[in-house]
Amino acid sequence: MMRSVPELLAPAGSLEKLKMAINYGADAVYLGGQKYGLRSAADNFTSWELKEAVEFAHARSALVYVVLNSFLHDQDFSGIESFIRELEDYGVDAVIVSDLGMVSLISSLSSISIHLSTQASCLSSYGAEFWKKMGITRVILGREASIEEAKKIKEKTGLEVEMFIHGSMCMSYSGHCVISNYTQGRDSNRGGCAHSCRFEYTLTSEKDNQTVTATTFMSSKDLEGVALIPQFAEAGIDSIKVEGRMKSIHYAGAVPKVYSQALKEYHDHKEIDLDFIKWADRELSKISHRSYHDGNLVSKAGEKSIFSERENEESDYVIVGQVLEIAEQKYLAIQVRTGFKLGDNLEIVSFSSRENLEFQVNEICDLQKNLCDKANPGTVVLIPWLANVERFNLIRMRKKA
Ligand code: SF4
Repeated sequence: MMRSVPELLAPAGSLEKLKMAINYGADAVYLGGQKYGLRSAADNFTSWELKEAVEFAHARSALVYVVLNSFLHDQDFSGIESFIRELEDYGVDAVIVSDLGMVSLISSLSSISIHLSTQASCLSSYGAEFWKKMGITRVILGREASIEEAKKIKEKTGLEVEMFIHGSMCMSYSGHCVISNYTQGRDSNRGGCAHSCRFEYTLTSEKDNQTVTATTFMSSKDLEGVALIPQFAEAGIDSIKVEGRMKSIHYAGAVPKVYSQALKEYHDHKEIDLDFIKWADRELSKISHRSYHDGNLVSKAGEKSIFSERENEESDYVIVGQVLEIAEQKYLAIQVRTGFKLGDNLEIVSFSSRENLEFQVNEICDLQKNLCDKANPGTVVLIPWLANVERFNLIRMRKKA
C-alpha cells in the first residue's frame, strides 16, 4: 500500500500492550506466539489471544505481524505447519522470519506475507534482492543501515523497507552476539538475551597493565529518531519500528503516541519544527529510558552512542492507572496500579491530542460511592468526571521524592 508517511509499527508484548499501542496511534503491531520468536520472557500470545489481537487490530484498521525469527534447529520446526495455518485462519497480516529454511517452508505452505527480520542483518541491495527472490515482501534492515542506504535498497529492489526508529540498541550486529550465552547461559539468538552488554566490566590494558573499572563500554544508548521523520518519509521508508516487546505498559502507549503525533505533524506541515521536537523530548523523557542517540540512522554509531558510565533506564513518572469506564458528567472509574491520594497532581495521557490533561485529585470514592482519602493499587475507584477523557487512557503521576 502506498502511504504518504511511513507506517508506525509498535511492539505488542501482551494483549494489553497491543491494545495500548493501537489506541495510542500505532498502524501495525508485532507480537510473538508461544514458540519460534526471540523474546522468551515476553508474555507471548496464546492462540485465543492471537485471535483476539487480530480482531481488535483489524477493527481499528491496524495490522498484525507475528515474529518467527529465532535461530532454529531442526527440532524447533516441530508444529510449524499447523501454527502457520492458524495464523492464516486468524488473518495475521505477515510473519517476520530470519531463517532461510523457515522462509522456504512458509512459502510452500501458505501465501501469507513474509517480512525479513532484522536478525538476518540484511544491509545491502544485493542481499535484499536475494531475499526478494526467496519470496520476501518486506525487508527489516539491520540497525547498522542508514536512512540513505535504506533509500537506495528500496529504489533498487522495489521491496518494502522497514527500519527501527526507537528503543534499545544492541552493540552487536542486530543480535548476533553470544555474550549472554557464555556469561549467563542464556541464548540471545533464541529468545534469552540477558542484556549482558549492559553490565559493568573491568578492562585491563595489557600494554601498561592499567586497570579501568566499572566501565560500560558495550552498553549502547537508546535509539530515538523523532527529528528524522522527514528523512524517513522523503526516503520512502515504508515502516518505522519501535523496539520493546518487553517494555512497560507506559512505554507501550506513550512511545507510539509521540511517533504517531510526529507522523501527523509531518503529514500536515511537511516538517518537524523545534517546538514539536521539544514537546517530543519532554514526552519521551517521562518514559523509562537511557540517554537517547540516533544510532546509525544518519552516520555510523561510535563512541558517543555508548555510555561513558553506568546508566539505568529511568523515569520521573509512574503509571497510576487507566480509565476503565466513563459516566458522562458524573465520574471516571479508574483501575489503580500505583496508589495516589487526595491533592496529588495526575496527568491523563490523551489518545489523539498532543496535549494531555493535568489535574489535581480533589475527590476519590470507592465503588459504593464512599469518600476515601486515597486509592490503593489493585482497586477500582471513582473520581469526578473530566471532559475529553477516553476509555482506556493512561493516567500517570510524577514520582514523589
Ligand atoms: S547481550 Fe547486548 S549486544 Fe548481546 S544480543 Fe543482547 S542486547 Fe545485543
